[in-house]
Amino acid sequence: MRSALYSLLIPLLAAPALAGAPFSFDAAPGRLPKDVVPLDYDIALVPDIAEHSVRGTEAITLEVRSATTHLIFNSLHQTLDHVRFDGRPVADTVSDDDAQLTKLTLTRPAAPGVHRLTFSYHGKIESQPFGLYTQTFKRPDGTTDSLLSTKFEATDARRMFPCWDEPAFRATFRVTVTMASSATISNMPIAKRTVNGALSTTRFQRTPKMPTYLVELTAGDFKLISAHVGKTAVGIWAVRGQENDGTTALANAQQILADYNDYFDYPFPLPKLDSIATPGGFSGAMENWGAITYNDQLLLVTPSSTIRDRQVAYAVQAHEMAHQWNGDLVTMGWWDDLWLNESFASWRAAEETDLRHPDWQWWEIEDASKEGAMAADARQASHAIQQHVTNELEARSAFDPQITYAKGEAVLRMLEAYVGPDTFRAGIRRYMKAHAFSNATTADLWLALDAASGRTVSEVAEDWTGQAGYPLVTATTECDSAGNRSVTLRQNRFLLEGDDTGHSHWRVPMRIRAGTDAGTQTLLLAEDGQRVDAGRCDQPLSLTPDAIGFYRVAYDDATLDTDRLAFSHLPSGDRIALLDDQWALVQADRQKLDRYLGLAAAMGTDLNDRAWSQIIDALGQIETYERGESGHDAFTAYARSILMPVAGVLGWNARPNDPPPLLHLRRQVIRQLGEWGDADTVAEARRRFDAYLANPASLDPDDQAVVLSVVATNADQQGFDELRGLIRSAHNETELDRYLRALMRVRDPVLARQALDVALSPEIPPQADSIRLQLIFAVSDQNPALAWATFRDHVDQIMAAHPQYRPLLLAQYIPEYLWNALPADDLEAWLKTRVPPEMASNLARGMQAARFKLRKKTELTAAADAFLASRTRVASR
Ligand SMILES: [Zn+2]
Repeated sequence: MRSALYSLLIPLLAAPALAGAPFSFDAAPGRLPKDVVPLDYDIALVPDIAEHSVRGTEAITLEVRSATTHLIFNSLHQTLDHVRFDGRPVADTVSDDDAQLTKLTLTRPAAPGVHRLTFSYHGKIESQPFGLYTQTFKRPDGTTDSLLSTKFEATDARRMFPCWDEPAFRATFRVTVTMASSATISNMPIAKRTVNGALSTTRFQRTPKMPTYLVELTAGDFKLISAHVGKTAVGIWAVRGQENDGTTALANAQQILADYNDYFDYPFPLPKLDSIATPGGFSGAMENWGAITYNDQLLLVTPSSTIRDRQVAYAVQAHEMAHQWNGDLVTMGWWDDLWLNESFASWRAAEETDLRHPDWQWWEIEDASKEGAMAADARQASHAIQQHVTNELEARSAFDPQITYAKGEAVLRMLEAYVGPDTFRAGIRRYMKAHAFSNATTADLWLALDAASGRTVSEVAEDWTGQAGYPLVTATTECDSAGNRSVTLRQNRFLLEGDDTGHSHWRVPMRIRAGTDAGTQTLLLAEDGQRVDAGRCDQPLSLTPDAIGFYRVAYDDATLDTDRLAFSHLPSGDRIALLDDQWALVQADRQKLDRYLGLAAAMGTDLNDRAWSQIIDALGQIETYERGESGHDAFTAYARSILMPVAGVLGWNARPNDPPPLLHLRRQVIRQLGEWGDADTVAEARRRFDAYLANPASLDPDDQAVVLSVVATNADQQGFDELRGLIRSAHNETELDRYLRALMRVRDPVLARQALDVALSPEIPPQADSIRLQLIFAVSDQNPALAWATFRDHVDQIMAAHPQYRPLLLAQYIPEYLWNALPADDLEAWLKTRVPPEMASNLARGMQAARFKLRKKTELTAAADAFLASRTRVASR
């Protein structure tokens, strides 16, 4: 699953390390008894969208493993009728919506063997994106339509049909639906479709054995474009009239499917693989087997799309398609091991995207999400990749974008580099074959990797998945009389605040590069004080070559000076790792700001996109802290001076054959200079904006966001009204989204108030409701107090599109973003009355982050002012 919250911070309770054992159905956690197991479901549904209700019948073939008079399974908001066990009425049927369970009592014990349970039921169609839900949307021509779709992970299949809704209970499914709709889509191809007046009845083929959370059903006015990869029919569905916007996605899907068939050495086992672009609904994507659902903004590529839109479409498709193996073919036995789904899909997607688009420098883009994970994991209250989920209703909170997705991805990349890509792939192939159409645990994966490599990879790997945090490796160098270098390595947990009371320890799979173009040597850091020879003392040294590795390195001053002097000659990944680590050390009070700024200045006119975005983020944080302080103007002038040389090299206009990272770098540098008040940049943006108003073709989609946001930041009322006019004339949701986000950049408080009115207005179509919260946060960058007041007064409207995540968003996300909107104590008091008691630790974590930023504001403002004062003294000497 790819959630819109992917980039946000949603950690969980700290959890004990989990003892690993291979998968066993009987030992798999869960609330449902294991003495009755469903083998096959035959489900017939008659949805009534207008009434928000559904009638259904189910015939379930069961295996009774030991004699019992009770059947217990999941249900929610359903009433069951005509319940028959082997054709005979049951003694009692009790459904409990609080427990989300139905308990049947039989008239006499069922003997071990195969039995048949049948019933009819009626339930509800949700208007929020979970279970079986309906979504209203506005078409580009202004007309309104609605669709029916499903989103079940983690525990919402039970909202559509009563079932054994835990991942270890795999079964086959036959789905039939009767309704008025031009297209109905499910996991499998259609077996039979009959039309009866306005209604049609569609019966789908039987699925392979799979868990309930992967069942899918979508219906509406959809149209298909399709192709074949071997025997597999590959299709893209979109709302009629938009199907050709799926052309890029169709080509992507064909390429990715062929590559994965080879990588996993296990051909995609279903006859077809559809991707369905739904307008609105949930804002991410979901890997239902054979029928992946996407928010259409993630999948469709139109003339309004940017390069980044195309990149995200590819990466999200590669993620969801990786799940067709990691998650669908082999499913985690229980939600504890969700990382087997999400870390793997994230890592595989990044590898595939990098493989097929080497000019995108995709791993460098992914470095930003690795840094997000490392920031979250540097807090005392972080949690392990494997985390305990006692009850499936807590499973949703296991989808922590930073730890379960991004840390897991980076750890897998580190392990792959450690054992070698061929050995790693051999282990994964072994794992797939051993557990196909079944479930697995982390221990099963380690067993497969150990067998493939002939080493105990498992011992190293468990240090990284079983405990929170990561190490800071301290490197102390010594030179002998001939200039040869040896390095002594020590580790302790890297924390932004406080000491590591747990005395954590990792076996760290490291690589070492001495020199600028040298290869790497590998080293497993297992003992404190371990020594290693590393080239000559006059050569630069990298202990995280290519920025692979989920650890940080603190070099001694002499080594750092050598690296800084050679900075422009280092491989880009080594340079990125140095910038990342030195900035993190500054934040943790383990390095002086001057040291980091020395590296930033050493970039000169280097053109690495990720290195510059790291620097822009860091300088931007200090600029935010300096707002309202006496040193603000001096600091922004300094920040501009760091970017000016590279801006001079890049200019405004792209050159033929500029690769995507260079195009992105040019735009981010221009945007930042405009936001930091560079007069020439602001004037040029305004000139290009005027030309755009006169002739929209004068500015390609990739340049629009930059020009519009620079204009908005510096806008007066007239500029605001012109931007506002664009929103009214947007041709599609992609454009609307771009214009709205730009408008929220206004600095003038009077205009910010007007922007906030737009963020709440019905001009935003129903399928884009979830953007409102992001717009409030965009305003909070320049006008935190105004954004807060609007959020506080309209919290229910703004959060309506996030029903499932509301408690987590309030507890953690609001303090993280609105830390400077009001005094921390006041914010905490307001949130405490609105956050459920079980989220207390999340709120504590959110407030810890807010107070950390407040403390950093004081410290980094002082450090930046002192740095600039010392430069002035040197200059005037
Ligand atoms: Zn996923």
